[in-house]
Amino acid sequence: MTSPTTPARPLPDPGALTWDQAAGRACVWCGQPLTTGTVSVGIIRDRLGVHVLDTEVWTGPCCVGTRPR
Ligand SMILES: [Zn+2]
Repeated sequence: MTSPTTPARPLPDPGALTWDQAAGRACVWCGQPLTTGTVSVGIIRDRLGVHVLDTEVWTGPCCVGTRPR
């Protein structure tokens, strides 16, 4: 199954996100502040006991469409 939001790169570990990245204000991969052209790249699944800590993460023009070479 494919989807347009399939990330081109693996998403970081949830514990490695900065507050800005977890809040969707910074690129999940390079940490640049996001302004325009933001793209959802998926949801990092995490949970702590009964608490679901899923985090939707975003990228922008800085990294969108990039692929590992
Ligand atoms: Zn970036």
